[in-house]
Amino acid sequence: MTTHIGRFAPSPTGPLHSGSLLAAVASYLDAKSHQGQWLLRIEDVDRLRTVKGARDSICHSLEQHGLNWDGVIEYQTDNDDRYQAALEQLQQQQRVFFCSCTRTALRQNPGPYPGTCRKEKSSHYLAATPQQPASHSLRFECGEGRIDFTDRILGQQSFELAQLGDFILRRRDSLFAYQLAVVIDDAQQSVTSVVRGADLLSSTPWQIALQQALDLPIVDYAHLPLITHADNGQKLSKQTGAQAIDNTAAVSNLCLTLSQLGQQLPEQAQRLSVNQLLEWAIDHWQINRVSKTALIVD
Ligand code: GLU
Repeated sequence: MTTHIGRFAPSPTGPLHSGSLLAAVASYLDAKSHQGQWLLRIEDVDRLRTVKGARDSICHSLEQHGLNWDGVIEYQTDNDDRYQAALEQLQQQQRVFFCSCTRTALRQNPGPYPGTCRKEKSSHYLAATPQQPASHSLRFECGEGRIDFTDRILGQQSFELAQLGDFILRRRDSLFAYQLAVVIDDAQQSVTSVVRGADLLSSTPWQIALQQALDLPIVDYAHLPLITHADNGQKLSKQTGAQAIDNTAAVSNLCLTLSQLGQQLPEQAQRLSVNQLLEWAIDHWQINRVSKTALIVD
């Protein structure tokens, strides 16, 4: 029997809010209801977005909500060597090219990356060397394939890679990109099951394409409904002003999160302790009760 290994992988860009608590609780319950492990990885690969104190604040909120992770916390900032090795493996397969397109230039033609630099053969040859020229990013050549997978919440998914476009593995500022880091870390930590917000659904085919190219196990995915604002339909996030969760109201927060996840609540749930409530929720976790569509809040 393979062990179920789930994880929560917040970026330390601000405190935990109700949207990120939803992902934390769902991934925790899913792992624990399979007698699995639940790992915590701080996704700080983008050092420029890291907010001082956010990591400690996230960990503190998780603890206050009884969401105790297994093992030690993983930090992406410790893993550059791993990402570099994977990049070189892809370069050897000639699946990487240097790209000098600026964001401003790409913004003029919204949509998938148009393949501008890929079409210049010389950039492929250059990319066979590990050095990254200044002001160039490194992109993965997706090719023409189709990625099919069964999302455990959303059901059958199918994406044409050509329509998603070649994506960045290493940025112009030489930081490794999220898409590469997440795939390498999930594999390194033997993660079997990812439960996360539906804002990342369109990243999943890219991540599966990387797993295939690097001959890594293909992870199981479940994408949770996003919490959106009633007035403008925007996703609740740090950028749209989501409030930090109140750690002194952990039981109420957990009750609200469980109902947002479509789960039943025990009688007199508010009177239980955090641990009693979580134990009950683990025993009664049913992923098929989770909504496929966004949750709207005032
Ligand atoms: N670090 C990402 C975030 O905070 C989550 C990545 C993932 O779960 O794959 O949105």
